[in-house]
Amino acid sequence: MTPASTDAFDALPAQPQVLLVDDDEVNLLLTGIALRERGFRMTEASSGERALEVLRAHAPDIIVLDAIMPGLDGFATCRAIRALPGFENVPVLMLTGLDDDASITRAYQAGATDFFVKATQWSLLAGRLHYLLRASQTRLELERSKAKLARAQDLARMGSFDWRRGEHGGLLMSSEALRVFGFGPHERLSLRSLLRMVPRDERRALMRQLHDAARSSSVLATDAPIVLLDGRQRIIHVDAEPEFDEHGQAAGYTGIVQDVTDRRQAEDKIRHLANFDALTGLPNRRQLIWRAERALEQARRLEHQFALLLIDLDRFKVINDTLGHGAGDELLVEVGRRLRACVRHSDQVMEGTLESAGMRSHRALEAVGRLGGDEFVALLPEVSADADAERVAERVLEAMHEPIFVGGQECFVSASVGVAIYPRDGTTVVDLLRNADVAMYSVKSQGKNAAAIYSPHLAGRGRDKLELETALHKAIERDELVLHYQPKIDVRAARMVGAEALMRWRRGGKLVPPSDFIPLAEDTGLIVPMSEWALREAARQVHAWQQAFAFDDSVAVNLSSRLFERSDLVEHIHRCVTAVNVPHRVIQLEITENNLMKELQNVIPSLHRLNEIGVEISIDDFGTGYSSLAYLTTLPISELKIDRSFVRELGITPQSSAVVTAIIALARSLGLRVVAEGVETLRQMEVLHRLGCGVMQGFLFSRPVPPEELQTWLEQTVLPRKAPWIGRATPNELPPDAPAAAGGARLLRFV
Ligand code: C2E
Ligand code: MG
Ligand code: MG
Repeated sequence: MTPASTDAFDALPAQPQVLLVDDDEVNLLLTGIALRERGFRMTEASSGERALEVLRAHAPDIIVLDAIMPGLDGFATCRAIRALPGFENVPVLMLTGLDDDASITRAYQAGATDFFVKATQWSLLAGRLHYLLRASQTRLELERSKAKLARAQDLARMGSFDWRRGEHGGLLMSSEALRVFGFGPHERLSLRSLLRMVPRDERRALMRQLHDAARSSSVLATDAPIVLLDGRQRIIHVDAEPEFDEHGQAAGYTGIVQDVTDRRQAEDKIRHLANFDALTGLPNRRQLIWRAERALEQARRLEHQFALLLIDLDRFKVINDTLGHGAGDELLVEVGRRLRACVRHSDQVMEGTLESAGMRSHRALEAVGRLGGDEFVALLPEVSADADAERVAERVLEAMHEPIFVGGQECFVSASVGVAIYPRDGTTVVDLLRNADVAMYSVKSQGKNAAAIYSPHLAGRGRDKLELETALHKAIERDELVLHYQPKIDVRAARMVGAEALMRWRRGGKLVPPSDFIPLAEDTGLIVPMSEWALREAARQVHAWQQAFAFDDSVAVNLSSRLFERSDLVEHIHRCVTAVNVPHRVIQLEITENNLMKELQNVIPSLHRLNEIGVEISIDDFGTGYSSLAYLTTLPISELKIDRSFVRELGITPQSSAVVTAIIALARSLGLRVVAEGVETLRQMEVLHRLGCGVMQGFLFSRPVPPEELQTWLEQTVLPRKAPWIGRATPNELPPDAPAAAGGARLLRFV
């Protein structure tokens, strides 16, 4: 038994209600008793008129009607019942005489469900009533499920059709199928008129497909685009199976049509999402690799060269960190748009679509895509010489020249481009990508904003760098960074007036100098956590010295300009010093002149805020940058550090002392302190002193040393003494150009 019939049976009333209509009182009585005994509930009516009255008050499950009655006979009564609303489908059993064929036909014509020969075989009658009740229930269910099916088909925008071959054949569509094509339920449509709804360009291919299927009587499954009468475009999926007559001859097709526009659009969207970058709309890594592989296959087959350009934005991280991710995203979108203009770019090419989109040429694979982050790739599926790729690289670099307006301000971006060419620089996509990366890195290390074609001698450098970067990442986690301190000496008072913290990396038993890792840290953004660490560590050290030596000066921390661009730099410094309970003024910040000038606009707000909380700013390597002196008057800075290069030449070239004199005069007129860096000899010290610079730093006094080695100087700070060497032309024990090895501590003993 199918579930539907179980339902139907279960839904039968336990005691069905029967309306029995008979003009014969005796029969009425006997039949009533007999059926009651068999579990029916009975209502009796002795005429057709009476029956119709009864029906106005209540509805029985089944009606038993005597055919022959005075007044309204059974047939007329039956017709009247069928005309009553709600009684169209109630089972009606007509009681006729034996062999009364005419009555039987009339009974059906009047709308009776069935007939029964009037007799006293009550069990048979009861059985027939049960059967009729069940049949009617089943029919009801069937109708309900048909309605449900129609509704479901409607919802699924689906309908069925039949198509018969031959003269009397043609197309027969269900009302749901008609609705799929935008027609009402009673329309009759020919196959030809349906085909006319398919746009001309696609129609021919579809007709060929239909013909082919019909000729071979094969299953048909296809999508067809159509234009509805109201102009809307839809995609209709047709799924049809061939049907055969009893002789095995192809008779036609039966199948369904379904409007799959939404689904196809969703599928397209999914495919697009899987292959294209959501932000820029450019092909993503997966799609790029797919295209590169296709291009590579073609290049191999047709024996030509193909180029892969790896484009990495310079300093994108800075923009992201300072202006926020929203602005960073905007910038990437704009960069994507500009890059796209540099190559012939097609969005249409995707897996499986190369052929179907009619793009048989490998040139269709040309593209620019986003590999991730700020890395883009341009694919040139056919190049005849390096110069072709170089030209595109040039275009890419040029495309970045115009400023990009994001986050309410103008940004200047540049890119570093690495190029690898098949087959010379690699025969797989992985190799080409890696070597383009090596070339790109070589550009980065040589000042960025340029392009380079891979060459094998670059490989080692790139790899070293990569290793270094990985190790540097771990250095922070493993606490391998240390700060060394170099005292700043007031030579007149012969005492330390502060110190500069200089970072070292303790790597495998060796100390790596900052010049070997700071530039890389700046490139990768690692400089941010590293500098934050340096700030915390310096604050902690000052606190320790305050406790042990009543140290009352400040420690200068070198900060990359990238830190100055952070909007939370001030809060960060505040947290560092308050965590160890020292005042803000104990931290001084050094920013190199070059860095300051490059990022002037971004840095100024931070400088002011730092100044307000008492953190002093010192301009490092002063004199080497291209600063206009005018800006110095407007910046809240406290100190200039004369670059080592001028100090080195002091007493050797007259220009150097002229520069130093000018810097000192400038500082004085602006009320800034001045510190000389890199003082290695007594002569340098004396000249500086004579020129009016009293505070110095250099190997003459002390190399940068671990904090515990600074003790001599720290003890000195509480016992200020006059420096007897001042004023003497040549101190007796040291030659005028005493090398750095003399060291601060020895010098102290000497004085
Ligand atoms: P800088 O800030 O100009 O530091 C002074 C550099 O000169 C230090 O080199 C120091 O060791 C060296 N020096 C000091 N006295 C003499 C001398 O008499 N003769 C010679 N020849 N050199 C002397 P170092 O420690 O190698 O640092 C190099 C640069 O690295 C620093 O230049 C600074 O710009 C940067 N740096 C160091 N530590 C940090 C840091 O924690 N963060 C950042 N962002 N940069 C740092
Ligand atoms: Mg410095
Ligand atoms: Mg310096």
